Amino acid sequence: MIKDQINALYEDMVAVRRDLHQHPELAFQEIRTAGVIAAELRRLGFTVEEGIAVTGVIGMLDSGRSGKTLLLRFDMDALPVIEATDLAYCSNHPGVMHACGHDGHVAVGLAIASILSENKDSLQGRVLMLFQPAEEGSGTGILKTTGGAEAMILAGVLQKYAPDEAVAAHLWNGIPTGEVVIHAGAIMAGADQIQITVNGRGGHGAQPQLTADPVLAGAQILAALQSIVSRNVSPQDTVVISITMFHAGEAVNVIPAKAVLQGTMRTFGQASHELIARRITEVATQVAGAMGCTADVQINRIAPAVENSARVCDEIHKAVIRHAPHLNIDTNKILMVSEDMAFFLQKIPGCYILIGAGGTQPGSLHGHHHPGFTFDEEAMRHAVLALAGYALDVLST
Ligand SMILES: [Zn+2]
Ligand SMILES: [Zn+2]
Repeated sequence: MIKDQINALYEDMVAVRRDLHQHPELAFQEIRTAGVIAAELRRLGFTVEEGIAVTGVIGMLDSGRSGKTLLLRFDMDALPVIEATDLAYCSNHPGVMHACGHDGHVAVGLAIASILSENKDSLQGRVLMLFQPAEEGSGTGILKTTGGAEAMILAGVLQKYAPDEAVAAHLWNGIPTGEVVIHAGAIMAGADQIQITVNGRGGHGAQPQLTADPVLAGAQILAALQSIVSRNVSPQDTVVISITMFHAGEAVNVIPAKAVLQGTMRTFGQASHELIARRITEVATQVAGAMGCTADVQINRIAPAVENSARVCDEIHKAVIRHAPHLNIDTNKILMVSEDMAFFLQKIPGCYILIGAGGTQPGSLHGHHHPGFTFDEEAMRHAVLALAGYALDVLST
């Protein structure tokens, strides 16, 4: 029974999570974390490849019998957040914090690796435990470089190992402990960064008639962009446009020559992505033109939507009912956040599930990326039950 195996591993899993929580590492710098993972996978009899896309690790367990190759994906990076919890195991690295629960994901991954290795003799096919860097991306602003999933794909891991299916889970505080979300179709939105540079003509703050004011044009653009969701998008479509940065000017008596607006858009599906990108460009350039300015619009894709395969969702659903009948399954929840697991699911069928980690009192724990974030560790047990249960079902002889 997996349940008994998890009970035996639970204390170790919590210890691993707390150790990683004390030693958080930012995107593409997860050197200590990757070392902990590689050593444990080797101890469990996996063939290990390290240093993929800087810090990525893959452990392969080959049963020696023909069958599917199943990829289980985990992220391991922390965030540039100053931790404000009173946990005994709070971050030792000032300004860096596991504020998204990826410490828990690594601990869950290693517990699953242990269970699969214990059951190796009854498996067919191969298991790939993939630990990726930089799920949170590797920087800020429009010049953000690719995150870890895309980087590992570009490093050739899918060609090299040829997985048939890919699955992953996120411990999620917005969902109570004891609930699991298995949603066929798009579960998380695609995300793009928006940057609008408004170019005008600067001058004296007391002589606006001699200028083309990019601050005023930027303000009009900012307000007009909010009409896109309310007036161009179907009320049945789910879209977000948020302008989150507006930078202009350096002196109270100078009208600047330039204003820069930045923000994010979230969409599901190609058609609404194209519509929003086109309308942002039209609104920004034409409003700027009406104000005597010009606008240069850049829209850069961070990640596409996370698209779950209905067939794989169905298999995970059955596995959760079988191995964890005490968990509640929600099949109809989507999130507007994005996830670079989307890049794996663009290439191979699979499923990304959410594991409720918010405790039993709704709203009692802070949300993800908050300085006070922590999650209910009990949820790690549920993540192991769901993913290890699924792997054992799919690969059992
Ligand atoms: Zn996050
Ligand atoms: Zn996360």
